[in-house]
Amino acid sequence: MEEIVRSLVMVLMRGSEYQMICKCPKCEADIMALTLNSVPSHYVTSSFGREAAYEQLNTKENLEWINKRIIRAIHVVSKYPKH
Ligand SMILES: [Zn+2]
Repeated sequence: MEEIVRSLVMVLMRGSEYQMICKCPKCEADIMALTLNSVPSHYVTSSFGREAAYEQLNTKENLEWINKRIIRAIHVVSKYPKH
């Protein structure tokens, strides 16, 4: 899950829709952490488990669901930045 969230955060933060938001490592880490606290973790212990979890999570509906949570985190962090 963390890997998926990280790649979606990178895509969203670099997209044209969020040009105005701060892209410093602090804000990016806060957006990551806020999002990860609102989604199930899906810990795995092997590369096979990683593949299986990825397969399960990598659906259009699920990625849209995660994107919504990232967008919410982007709004929170840009409203209350730690700097
Ligand atoms: Zn920042």
